[in-house]
Amino acid sequence: MEILVCVKRVPDTSENEIVINSGGNDIERDDLVYSVNEWDNYAVEEAIQIVDKVGGSVTVVTVGDDESEEVLRREMAMGANNGILLTDDAFEGSDGKGIATILKGAVEKGNYDLILTGAQADAGAAQVGGMLAAMLDYPYASLVNLIEAGDGKLMIGREIEGGNQEMNEIELPCVLSIQTGINEPRYVGIRGIRKVASVEIPELGAADIGVDASAVGEAAAKVKRVDYFVPDTGEGAEMLTGSTEEIIDKLIEYLKAKGGLK
Ligand SMILES: Cc1cc2nc3c(=O)[nH]c(=O)nc-3n(C[C@H](O)[C@H](O)[C@H](O)COP(=O)(O)OP(=O)(O)OC[C@H]3O[C@@H](n4cnc5c(N)ncnc54)[C@H](O)[C@@H]3O)c2cc1C
Repeated sequence: MEILVCVKRVPDTSENEIVINSGGNDIERDDLVYSVNEWDNYAVEEAIQIVDKVGGSVTVVTVGDDESEEVLRREMAMGANNGILLTDDAFEGSDGKGIATILKGAVEKGNYDLILTGAQADAGAAQVGGMLAAMLDYPYASLVNLIEAGDGKLMIGREIEGGNQEMNEIELPCVLSIQTGINEPRYVGIRGIRKVASVEIPELGAADIGVDASAVGEAAAKVKRVDYFVPDTGEGAEMLTGSTEEIIDKLIEYLKAKGGLK
């Protein structure tokens, strides 16, 4: 099975203090530590496990700049066979529809049976997978937490509100958005990173993948973020401050006082 996994380079929230920029419409992105979007890492692990069972190859693709190459290499160190960097000045400032348009160009350049995305990325929009499927006219399933490969079809599990589980049969080719917890992503060691350090990763721009540059990027974005802020603390909310130990002690006292702990 030929599998394409869409991966995004995102700020690592465990490694950064997020600060809002002076324009008030985004976070300050300079000097952040970046890593691969968590959901996408699960998707790559799942793709590798499918190929281990039924054969084929895994390609990872990202829309970004030169620095985004690092997430492709990381996922290749994990076991993906190929990487593709989609990069072009025309792609900058794309909204979700723009990103899906660019990814569609990459899908149509190849011959993939299965396209995986994460259920969501850092902006939490959870829109790229569904839009990509619609643009390709492929069947789509979201929040997928189980995949069994069959002949021309997949059996997939979906996580439903309230912890319930749904099973579906879906025809290939299709797009699936992967939920975290579907597997346990393998550890990527320094040896693996070194092994792929000099592997050539093709860079493709709008013209290479047949994307009309005027249909993507900032000028084409019809969803524009106009404000970005931390909401005021609401009434009844109490922020616990101090060291981790102090916060834990205060929380225990608080829960005892409220009758939540005996
Ligand atoms: C400089 C800058 C300007 C921006 N301007 C705008 C704007 O004007 N309007 C706007 O709406 N958004 C804008 N964005 C946000 C950006 O386009 C979002 O990434 C996009 O809207 C998708 O939302 P999301 O990240 O929540 O992805 P989701 O839809 O939550 O992501 C789902 C999945 O889609 C795939 N995916 C998402 N992004 C990529 C990618 N880059 N490469 C490969 N796969 C990917 C991944 O598999 C991911 O798990 C801007 C971002 C930047 C950095």
